[in-house]
Amino acid sequence: MRGKLLVVGFGPGSFEHITKRAQVAIQESDYVIGYKTYVELIKDLLTDQEIISTGMSEEVSRAQAAVKYAEKGKKVAVISSGDAGVYGMAGLVYEVLVEKGWKEATGVEVEIIPGISAINSCSSLLGAPVMHDACTISLSDHLTPWAIIKKRIEAAGFGDFVIAFYNPKSGKRTRQIVEAQQILLKYRSPDTPVGLVKSAYRDSQHVVMTTLQHMLDFDIGMLTTVVVGNSSTFFYDNKMITPRGYQRKYTLNTEDQRLRPHERLRPENEPWALHEGKKENQNPADLAAADSTPIALAMEALQKIDGEENKDKLSIDNPAIAQPAVESIFELAVSPGVANKKFTPKQLLVLAEAAGENGTMEYTPHHQILLRLPTADPDAITKMLADAGFLLSPIGDVFQIKACDFCEGDKKDSIPHAEEIHRRLGGLDLPKELKLGFNGCGMACYGAVNEDIGIVFRKGMFDLFLGGKTVGRTAHPGQPVAEGIHPDKLVDVIEGIVKEYKENGHPNERFYKYFKRVQQVQGFKHKDITPVIELEPAPCGE
Ligand code: SAH
Repeated sequence: MRGKLLVVGFGPGSFEHITKRAQVAIQESDYVIGYKTYVELIKDLLTDQEIISTGMSEEVSRAQAAVKYAEKGKKVAVISSGDAGVYGMAGLVYEVLVEKGWKEATGVEVEIIPGISAINSCSSLLGAPVMHDACTISLSDHLTPWAIIKKRIEAAGFGDFVIAFYNPKSGKRTRQIVEAQQILLKYRSPDTPVGLVKSAYRDSQHVVMTTLQHMLDFDIGMLTTVVVGNSSTFFYDNKMITPRGYQRKYTLNTEDQRLRPHERLRPENEPWALHEGKKENQNPADLAAADSTPIALAMEALQKIDGEENKDKLSIDNPAIAQPAVESIFELAVSPGVANKKFTPKQLLVLAEAAGENGTMEYTPHHQILLRLPTADPDAITKMLADAGFLLSPIGDVFQIKACDFCEGDKKDSIPHAEEIHRRLGGLDLPKELKLGFNGCGMACYGAVNEDIGIVFRKGMFDLFLGGKTVGRTAHPGQPVAEGIHPDKLVDVIEGIVKEYKENGHPNERFYKYFKRVQQVQGFKHKDITPVIELEPAPCGE
């Protein structure tokens, strides 16, 4: 059977605002995949669907899991709040499909189901602020360089758009909304109406009407949409209203109209329009000056002041704004080798040079240094480090091998096997990070048995441990599942286990959980022996 992906926008959050098609789509699916909070919001709609919910910034694994199950013939609903095509999952699902060479005619079926986006739901609570040309700008710079976001705010300010700011602020991202306000104050009056809507149509809904000048005096967070009016938006009786322009031709307070219907579209009655034969103004400032709105007057005035203050204002000639240099944070792990634990002084110098003034070098519990640095050229950095003899590994949800130092190389018999595992599997993307501990003798003093997968070399053969729980109060070692695996078989056995987990693990599911769920990996059986921890009464009383 051909699988299907239903990418569903379920609106702001209340049941009344979920479309009929979205409800049916969720109910007719085999799987529902979404961000935990959103799955919670729609849980009353669910019947017997299998749920896969993951945390924030797990969108990519959600999209990949959705595609995987659809390819197995399942109907999979991927849910987004608001509209799935507005900073939602729709684009990402297509991007994952594109990477796999998907074609509409032959691949899994895809249906994108529209929902009410925050710009619409929030505006309805404010009055009618988005009556005219408007735009949405997300202030999240996790995936978009801040220089580009700034340029868009400048452009929207200059273009007099009503703006809905999505993702305006979070615990860590607090400066973006402050800078956005500063930019807009260059183009708009401090009294410009602003609406702050938190959790529209959810239990904790909260609406604030304020102004551009005072907007930061109120609480703005992850669940807020900030709607900034244009130069003609006004407040009336606690409503935020943007006029459409009817007053240019109509009188709204009398039934008698100045212009008869047949006169309304005549050029002389629309002197502001672009008519046949009329020469178009090329210069944006001239264009603005042809109008008499406050923004136009402000633009004209600014043109006359050629002051320092305005040097970073939007202008086609300003290369800093037109082409921002894009740097991003590059992260990777470096170590001297799989078995080798010794850095040379020269390697440390190279590491310091790579980190530069702004990078950081973090010593981790995994026998490696985590390097984070801002760069526009990651390839140059990796070349420099590889040339210094470093072993480089990506970080995140990938396969990593943690070997011992084989008694400083004395017990070197199994090192080639550890290196071969690293060559075949190192850096492989997985549902969750997975560490394989590899120790060169039965002492296992580097704790291989405590990792997700443990391998111990003993009497010329390998012992295998699976499903260590490496963190938490209920941490426990892996289960011994095989003794005496022949060296010729080892790497294939490990590859089989890791690939099976890659294929069938749910996003974010740690290896020990996967092993427990499926009970058998590559023929190795799980034993249900969860350790019971009994707490002793505290000696100092309750
Ligand atoms: N796809 C969603 C947007 C996701 S981005 C949509 O179309 O609405 C997340 C941002 O959307 C939040 O930071 C907030 O700015 C906005 N948002 C989503 N739901 C909201 C709601 N119910 N009330 C207010 N803002 C909301």
